[in-house]
Amino acid sequence: MQKCNDCATHCLSTTCPKCGGVAQAAAPMKWSPEDKRAHLRRQLEGVEESGWPNSLPTLASGEEE
Ligand SMILES: [Zn+2]
Repeated sequence: MQKCNDCATHCLSTTCPKCGGVAQAAAPMKWSPEDKRAHLRRQLEGVEESGWPNSLPTLASGEEE
């Protein structure tokens, strides 16, 4: 879903069908707050370092604090 920068009309293309303005994605891909927090946590825990996958919690565990 795109949103026109000029008239705020929502449309599927990057060109507003209403005013011809430039439309951009209204919002980035929606992630749950949990995912967003996990992303931040991964940064804090040093994802770049080797061996980090071993420290990731099991997704199926459901033990998210
Ligand atoms: Zn428009």
